[in-house]
Amino acid sequence: MPVPDTWGRPLRNLRLSVTDRCNLRCQYCMPERDYVWLPRSDILDFEEISSLVDVFADLGVDRVRLTGGEPLVRRDLPELVRLLAQKPLLKDIALTTNGVLLAERAAALERAGLKRVTVSLDTMRPDRFQALTRFDDHARVLAGIEEATRLGFTAVKIDAVIIRGVNDDELVPLLEYGRRVGAEVRFIEYMDVGGATRWSRDKVVSRAEMLGALARRYGPIHPVVEESSAPAERFRLADGTTFGIIASTTAPFCRSCDRSRLTADGLWYLCLYAARGTDLRGPLRAGASRQELRELIEGTWSRRADRGAEERLALRDRSALVPVTTLRRDPHLEMHTRGG
Ligand code: SF4
Repeated sequence: MPVPDTWGRPLRNLRLSVTDRCNLRCQYCMPERDYVWLPRSDILDFEEISSLVDVFADLGVDRVRLTGGEPLVRRDLPELVRLLAQKPLLKDIALTTNGVLLAERAAALERAGLKRVTVSLDTMRPDRFQALTRFDDHARVLAGIEEATRLGFTAVKIDAVIIRGVNDDELVPLLEYGRRVGAEVRFIEYMDVGGATRWSRDKVVSRAEMLGALARRYGPIHPVVEESSAPAERFRLADGTTFGIIASTTAPFCRSCDRSRLTADGLWYLCLYAARGTDLRGPLRAGASRQELRELIEGTWSRRADRGAEERLALRDRSALVPVTTLRRDPHLEMHTRGG
């Protein structure tokens, strides 16, 4: 039985950030010129990650998602996937990537046991991609998505963060592209998480606005009724095309949140908005036994009361979560360190 937190939410989904580095500089995640990186000696090796995942799995974690930074910049990632795929308690191993390196790495990852892939893609326009990410890699991302859909993954998804005045005119082109290549698109409301230093409320395109725009183009949209703790609400067009909306900003889903995040240097965060994490690297490297780590993780989760997005929603005066100077002092507050 998974361990429940104070709201009865089980410890189930673990997002494993394998690196804080990224090969893009998306405006909503890494808009600054310079960053403070985690020291290399602090980064967990694959054996260490695997040992921690064993303890998490003992306590109920059965889904793991590899994140970053950009996880594909970590060398030999298929080795880690192979280690995780051998764990009988894990039902699902997924990856979130920006897609730049996916075309060349997807086959090895699939052979190693990766089940699902989510690719971030916010625009169908190469010029806009360059403005958004500061790199000219749009064609490589599309090639990555298309290669992934050709392979045997259970699912390939496209995540698009929608920002007013930036790409809110691209709901239809993104949906059409996903339909054409066989990848379900999920539209994500712009969130005021760490790193999103340019966030403001007026740039958020709400779920209701997105549904309105899509209904004007496609006609009636129906919700897909399903039992799930997944963040996306799914919808169906009249022709059967499905898509998701992740309304983390205007309609948070903290009440069913079973996700936690382990950074590449072994800090464990119970919420995307949490100010502090629990150090697992220290005890692991000091020789803590599996039982001692289990007690630390179980005790920490059983006290969890985090509802970050709901608390943010209740704020009247809401601006970016953390100022740049604070991010420089503690890079763990960055979304690219914590894994979005
Ligand atoms: S804000 Fe925190 S508690 Fe709420 S859904 Fe996100 S990670 Fe979960």
